[in-house]
Amino acid sequence: MRIRCPYCGPRDHSEFSYEGDATIKRPQNEDAKAWHDYVYLRANPRGRHKELWSHVAGCRAWVVVERNTLTHEIYESYLPGDMKDD
Ligand SMILES: [Zn+2]
Repeated sequence: MRIRCPYCGPRDHSEFSYEGDATIKRPQNEDAKAWHDYVYLRANPRGRHKELWSHVAGCRAWVVVERNTLTHEIYESYLPGDMKDD
């Protein structure tokens, strides 16, 4: 699997580290349940999904990768600041 880093271009996935779900939003209040869900609960989505990866063996940038979790096809990758809400 090759991931395109916005700064370095296409690189092997072994240069990257998976950092988690890119769609999780930090709670904006002190609700204990909302914080529990934010810290501990993760979905296991099937199909197209936005993931956070870090280019640890390269420029160390954080990258959002839109990937199909079934086929590993990568649709696009970009910097987290360029992510649009669905
Ligand atoms: Zn890079």
